[in-house]
Amino acid sequence: MYVSDLRHFFDVPDDAPGPARRMAEHLTSVVRAASAGDAGAKWVSALRCRRRPGHRACPGHIAVRRTDVPASIEWACTCCSDEGVISGWEGSPFDLRQRRPEAGRAGGHGVVISPEVSDTLRRLVLLDTACERLVFRAKASEEGVVLTGDDDELDELIGYVAAEANHEEDRRRQKRLDAAFAVLSDAFAQAQRL
Ligand SMILES: [Zn+2]
Repeated sequence: MYVSDLRHFFDVPDDAPGPARRMAEHLTSVVRAASAGDAGAKWVSALRCRRRPGHRACPGHIAVRRTDVPASIEWACTCCSDEGVISGWEGSPFDLRQRRPEAGRAGGHGVVISPEVSDTLRRLVLLDTACERLVFRAKASEEGVVLTGDDDELDELIGYVAAEANHEEDRRRQKRLDAAFAVLSDAFAQAQRL
């Protein structure tokens, strides 16, 4: 069980050793997911387990449970024994909790995407906090990753994906962004027809 204080992982430099950088990336992603979703109950995020037992990627997703008083985030892989508790995340740039509770998300759609598309969305750099929240509160399910948002949120996210694809100079990343754009636009159009 890892007990981590997120404050020790702020500003891990780009030239830090691989394990330190990967741990920082893992912990900050867990905090973003746990703080984007609802507090109280445990739920399974779209984050993938970073462990590679026997040199094969663990197929598990990271389940999270957040409490606000006292502030705590517990996480655990759904497949292997990787688990931990994170403190020191409140008020950090990775704390995506809403400052003001939003009026109920009426008219939300659940859009199913592949884990790969979900990974691409989590790596978008231009997102505003509302869209970041939408991407990080996505849940893993048997069918795939479920993104839940209302028309405006999904529409805005699709706009960000298109903008980032337009500005991307790395061809491989641009292809992934174009694919994510196509999948999201189709899924959104379909969800609106239902
Ligand atoms: Zn695992």
